[in-house]
Amino acid sequence: MRVSWAAGRLTFRLDPEDEITGRAADGHPVKLAINTCTLHDVPEDAHPDLFAVAAWTVVAPWTRRRITFDRAVSAGLAAALHDGWGIEAGPVGAEPRPAGRRLAISYSGGADSVAAAAIYPEAPFVHFKRVSHERVPNRWQHYRSDVLADLASRTGRELTVVPSDLEFTLAEPRPGYPEHHAVAAGALLLADRLDLGGLAFGYELGSRWLGGGRYVKRYTPDNPMWAPHGAWGRLFAAAGVHIVLPVGGVSEAVTMRLALDSDLKDQVRWCLTGVKGPCRTCAKCLYKELIQAAVERRPLDTPITADHPRAAKWLRPPPYGGQEMVEYGLARVPGIERTLFGGIMHHFDATEESTSWLDHCYPPAIEEIAAPWRGRAAAFMTSEVGLMTREEALRVETWGTAGQGTPPTRKNAV
Ligand SMILES: [Zn+2]
Repeated sequence: MRVSWAAGRLTFRLDPEDEITGRAADGHPVKLAINTCTLHDVPEDAHPDLFAVAAWTVVAPWTRRRITFDRAVSAGLAAALHDGWGIEAGPVGAEPRPAGRRLAISYSGGADSVAAAAIYPEAPFVHFKRVSHERVPNRWQHYRSDVLADLASRTGRELTVVPSDLEFTLAEPRPGYPEHHAVAAGALLLADRLDLGGLAFGYELGSRWLGGGRYVKRYTPDNPMWAPHGAWGRLFAAAGVHIVLPVGGVSEAVTMRLALDSDLKDQVRWCLTGVKGPCRTCAKCLYKELIQAAVERRPLDTPITADHPRAAKWLRPPPYGGQEMVEYGLARVPGIERTLFGGIMHHFDATEESTSWLDHCYPPAIEEIAAPWRGRAAAFMTSEVGLMTREEALRVETWGTAGQGTPPTRKNAV
């Protein structure tokens, strides 16, 4: 792979051994659409290691053996690429980038990133905004990135918006980040200007520790994407930008509660399609409504009934992505048995007691936050959430093993 940057435009050329099909770090298959993309309003004089990591978030799935940058990187950065992916990177010759002093929030506007923001009220926001690619038709006009950017601008926080078409480098499964970390490409290039030593993401307990998202249901202490000692964590750190997960120890029930209690509650939006408000009918809206209803202890409020096409997923047996929150919702939402979720209840024995560990913070998630930002997170989680007992922490550490987070072979409760 050969990559070059000019005026925010990344261009890459595949070497003979590279392939246009690959897998993201979570194992999900992805296919390349086009070999160029642009980040707008980013500096051109960032440290070369920042350009290198930003490029790697886009080209990693296609790269097989080596990567050649258009400017020399530090030996530490090259070593992180070699240790993490077995990739030969060069040329080598730059001094390491000194870590900056500030933490920025990679801000999406969803409940999880709003909760992360609540922990660090002074932290600036960097918001990734999808824009169309000049050479790839946009068949996903329903994705309202303009609405999300507008909401971010109303938070009152120091905000940098980075418009980019980099998601259109992906042909399959659909436009999106080639690696999850590509959302941070703009923040990386801004790291010198913003004096960043850390970048906070809203990934919560499920994504960090329970194998949530695209891979499902197992305890993942060595999560390759988000563990500080994982390949991506070490690469970001080599460029002087620590990956920080302020809400990595708490469930989506807790991030929902924190977001709805926060000063930014009027700007919270997890739906990518609604204009004047959430659409209420997409899969994300339904899932988040289940969580919000559980947190607010009120009946489910959704237009989706069991015969709606969107409900089909909930007619099939588990496992589900985010299953811990499904169990949490089934145990708490009044009248849930009369909703579209009623048909799956017999797969679970979820009770308030059996899901109460999801109301507390998993302590190792605090311990792995880089030192400059750990104390604030620890104080916040202790006072606002409460730490898991050792017994509750065991629920995290046995997730995905028999009897925990897996459906019983038959319902063994009355
Ligand atoms: Zn929606």
